[in-house]
Amino acid sequence: HPAPDLQRIVTEIADEMAQRTDRGDVASYIPELAGIDPNQFGLVVIDADGQVAAGGDADVPFSIQSISKVFTLTLALGMVGDRLWKHVGREPSGNPFNSIVQLERERGVPRNPFINAGAIAVTDVILSGHQPREAIGEILRFMQFLSGDSSIVIDETVAASEKRTGFRNTALANYMKSFGVVENPVDFTLGVYFHHCAIAMSCRQLAMATRYLAYSGRNPSTGLSVVSSERARRINALMLMCGHYDGSGEFAYRVGLPGKSGVGGGIIAVAPGKASIAVWAPGLDKHGNSHLGRIALEALTKRLGWSIFGV
Ligand code: GLN
Repeated sequence: HPAPDLQRIVTEIADEMAQRTDRGDVASYIPELAGIDPNQFGLVVIDADGQVAAGGDADVPFSIQSISKVFTLTLALGMVGDRLWKHVGREPSGNPFNSIVQLERERGVPRNPFINAGAIAVTDVILSGHQPREAIGEILRFMQFLSGDSSIVIDETVAASEKRTGFRNTALANYMKSFGVVENPVDFTLGVYFHHCAIAMSCRQLAMATRYLAYSGRNPSTGLSVVSSERARRINALMLMCGHYDGSGEFAYRVGLPGKSGVGGGIIAVAPGKASIAVWAPGLDKHGNSHLGRIALEALTKRLGWSIFGV
């Protein structure tokens, strides 16, 4: 059983969040996400011993959206190593997740792997030498492996919904293609990107999948090594600086953990050596990050003294 303190804190935070009336707005630019009930909230914390503390809608699957970018980055680094950094940078963008402005000055190389342009470039690297179907299967199996749960699936309706309306992402991909940064046919790369964004997972599954980042690249329960400790550390650094787009500074200021958000309202966060965390509240703030998700994480790290910047 989880340490009673941790479970009590998670339950308290879930109860506090259920009572709040400020929820933000659900993403509406992806039609399929516009109909999600904003009154849902889930929180799961898994500590170093593998004890799971869960609160609220911890087992309800939601669209992980940009959270998938952490795992595609991990996969792409595993495939091509540091050659990946020819395709994408490592600097915060200070711009919205779907911005195109910096691409012109930087010859089509996106600022980091977590803005849409950067994630599309990473997806393109995973796709090279494969069929889209194989690349999608590879990413999905990686998520199932990390969570130890083969029931995880892609929500095809969400993927189709985004494909139909993804004019911005199509523009980003075409623009990068014009510089040779995207190498595969644009609609193949986008097809894989929309599909990995449409993976559906619960907070419990996501917190499990994130464990390797909290423990130097290894899942402490299975002992299975996913990446080197150096790589885990560096992915965490990127999440801290870029994981919340132009809200990354505020997230570091308030929560103090590496984290990655998605417009489905999910956030994963890493307390190195201590815990992996997943939270979900569909309403978003003006940067497209979960409003109550951030507030819940702030409450959690404050109570537990988990900020990487000190207690
Ligand atoms: N699939 C979404 C998009 O491309 C991901 C954005 C996000 O979660 N921030 O717009």
